Amino acid sequence: MKKRVLTGDRPTGKLHIGHLKGSLLNRVKLQDEYEQFILIANIQGLTDNYNNPDKIRNSIEELLCDYYAVGIDFDKSTVYIQSEAPEVHEIFIYLSNFVSIQKILHNPTLKTEIEQKNFEKSTPLGFFIYPIHQAADILLVNADLVPVGRDQAPMIEDCREIARKFNQTYGKKILNEPQPLFGVTVNVPGIDGNAKMGKSLNNAIYLADSEKELREKVFRIKTDPNRIHATDPGTVEGNVVFIYHDLFNPNLDEVNDLKERYKKGKVGDVEVKQKLFEAMNNVLTPIRERRQEAEKIKKQLLERAIEGSRKVSKIGREIADQMKEVMQMKFSRI
Ligand code: ATP
Ligand code: MG
Repeated sequence: MKKRVLTGDRPTGKLHIGHLKGSLLNRVKLQDEYEQFILIANIQGLTDNYNNPDKIRNSIEELLCDYYAVGIDFDKSTVYIQSEAPEVHEIFIYLSNFVSIQKILHNPTLKTEIEQKNFEKSTPLGFFIYPIHQAADILLVNADLVPVGRDQAPMIEDCREIARKFNQTYGKKILNEPQPLFGVTVNVPGIDGNAKMGKSLNNAIYLADSEKELREKVFRIKTDPNRIHATDPGTVEGNVVFIYHDLFNPNLDEVNDLKERYKKGKVGDVEVKQKLFEAMNNVLTPIRERRQEAEKIKKQLLERAIEGSRKVSKIGREIADQMKEVMQMKFSRI
């Protein structure tokens, strides 16, 4: 039997280069070797967008087109929609006994997101519990591997601990402890210098961006704020423009030369950014072209995702029944 992968995205907008490097490229690599499930997390998306259901609904097709564009093969990977496999809620409620409110409060990613969304005074319960609901997504198919960005590390750690406690408590190994697979060592930063590019943060380069938009965004990237003139020595470490060069420019000699000259104040931002634009455009052009093809077949892609949900729902039912069995809550029909 093939090992399983579960991963996914919130339909809160189009996918960006952070997703590409953090998770999408790993999914494309893994789809041959693993049985892969890709979740469109519309229920999770709603937790901080409950008053904007149109945004979540309309973003589903955007994700489907992005998946197709980067090379996710809908015959090899099962793409599905969270709300169409409701067994996840049942599994969530069983898991929720194995985590404390205090533990959730310490989740560093959740803490940052609560601040970013101004939820400090009033956090919707649905949002607060999303890390545990996400553990239920993973355990719904008993995944072995979860390809994610670095921001998800605490969520996977929680999921492993919950699975372990569940198995220990009922004396039987029902749930897998999944392993994370990180595509990048740190999250891809935003063009505004924010530590994370995010679709809800207005600082992203999208896979769907036109060449013109890409150029504009590259030229807007925040660089070393202490460097006023091209002749001032600049800092390369943590500089977004060089982080992107490292991620996208295959010409290492060119990147090293730019870095050396930048440190000495011997190159202007324009040259650094023009070369970055060219390197990124080479990677993003074929994706952009395939995305245009995907736009024409997005209704079919949605059908595939609905079909996929039925498959996941069946798998989830089996796992939920095994959980009920060991919790002594399974009654056979008379
Ligand atoms: P939102 O702002 O709505 O939360 P998002 O951009 O964070 O959107 P998600 O759908 O929450 O995207 O995340 C999907 C996957 O992409 C996760 O595995 C996440 O770790 C990864 N990811 C998101 N942003 C980045 C980033 N900047 N760098 C690397 N990986 C990322
Ligand atoms: Mg996110």
